[in-house]
Amino acid sequence: MTPPLAPPPEPLWLIAANVVRWRRYGDGGQELRPGTKAYRGGAKVYVIGSRPGGHEQVTTVGPGRHTGAYITLDMATRHLHTFRAALVRSPAVLRREAENDAGQVWDGREEAEETAARLEGLAAELRAERWHTLPHPTPCLCHTCLTAAGAAGVTPA
Ligand SMILES: [Zn+2]
Repeated sequence: MTPPLAPPPEPLWLIAANVVRWRRYGDGGQELRPGTKAYRGGAKVYVIGSRPGGHEQVTTVGPGRHTGAYITLDMATRHLHTFRAALVRSPAVLRREAENDAGQVWDGREEAEETAARLEGLAAELRAERWHTLPHPTPCLCHTCLTAAGAAGVTPA
């Protein structure tokens, strides 16, 4: 329990990322859905850790799709992109990080940067693997196709 007059939590190096604008969905990945069920496309979230067994799922804190209030959520790494180290001062985010047992797997800026680079590569691999050789719908707005067209339109903050 946090005492009512606790001092603000210490800033912490986390990993920021953005939710893909659109993801393939449905039979053979022929449908497109905006963002994920819990997050809007383009939403900025913070990765606070990952579950045992690799980084295919990461634990995130971000603004929920419906209320905009912060939620803590395990989600597929492939639905995130533009991973980067971020020094977080937001008490709302830090409180959720402290309450979660996901546990960072990095310590400090340098390791956060290294982990962010690893996650960026892994997310791209996982996106490619998800639908194997099944063709993309036409036209397609998935992250791979958007970035291939140079139209991702997301500026890292
Ligand atoms: Zn596509």
